Amino acid sequence: MYKLAVFGNPIEHSLSPKIHALFAHQTGVQAEYTKILAPIDGFSQSAYDFINQGADGFNITVPFKIDAFNLATTHTINAQCASAVNTIKVNGNELIGENTDGIGLVNDLTKNLEIDLHDKIVLILGAGGATRGILLPLLQQNPKRIMIANRTASKATQLAKDFAKYGKTCGFGLEKIKNDPVDIIINATSASLNGEMPNIATGVANNAACYDLMYGQQTPFMQWAEVNNASMIFDGLGMLVEQAAAAFEFWTEKQPDTQAVIKTIKALND
Ligand code: NDP
Repeated sequence: MYKLAVFGNPIEHSLSPKIHALFAHQTGVQAEYTKILAPIDGFSQSAYDFINQGADGFNITVPFKIDAFNLATTHTINAQCASAVNTIKVNGNELIGENTDGIGLVNDLTKNLEIDLHDKIVLILGAGGATRGILLPLLQQNPKRIMIANRTASKATQLAKDFAKYGKTCGFGLEKIKNDPVDIIINATSASLNGEMPNIATGVANNAACYDLMYGQQTPFMQWAEVNNASMIFDGLGMLVEQAAAAFEFWTEKQPDTQAVIKTIKALND
């Protein structure tokens, strides 16, 4: 029996236990996956308590991904590039830190939505933790270039510099976005959480595939994309399921059928 959990604060809303129960059922893996509310200043103590109870692994969500990076004793390349960890595998005394957010996004885009990233121009809105987590897997798909636009321009230019060794990147402020269309726009700001959409040039969306990392409702970004003639519009539910699948495989070496789970979770959310 695998002993697994997700840590966060808040955590009540998390869909992860449901998703992992579906994966376990599908693959015939015996697993118990719970939600753990860790105190804001007490993540590592909560994590050690769980490890001492015989944990095999756990997920980490907001606001503990950097604490989890510090807790891990070794890091995958994804975790190193993201400077954040959303999945830990317990291997004796070793705590292996991984970050599956970027793999989750790329698998949703390329496998489920059949969007080929090769040679495409990608615009990412936002330069926070989520953007740092998705950049390496996106660049590994060999896009023509990735442009990072952020409210605080300096964070976007810094991220572009940090990832320039993996592919063509550039960073600037949101106000510098031009009306020239791009192929794919990814909203990685947290503006949608507050019901907001940054005021940016609208021509950039013309005929673009638009993807909001947020999920569960028609977000202001998705509404903006529709009004401005995007060719395809998606929320981040597929990414949520795919990042969970990558974590499940990291722990159990079993690959779940994500499409069936996305359908089930979508139906639950509607
Ligand atoms: P962070 O807090 O690290 O970064 C927030 C980013 O949003 C910053 O770039 C910030 O700009 C920008 N921002 C916030 N409010 C506004 C606004 N009103 N106008 C313009 N820009 C704004 O958050 P994360 O990167 O961790 O998360 C971003 C989003 O991604 C969240 O909605 C989260 O739910 C989602 N997410 C989804 C996942 C999935 O599985 N589907 C996985 C991970 C994240 P500035 O730097 O100027 O402050």
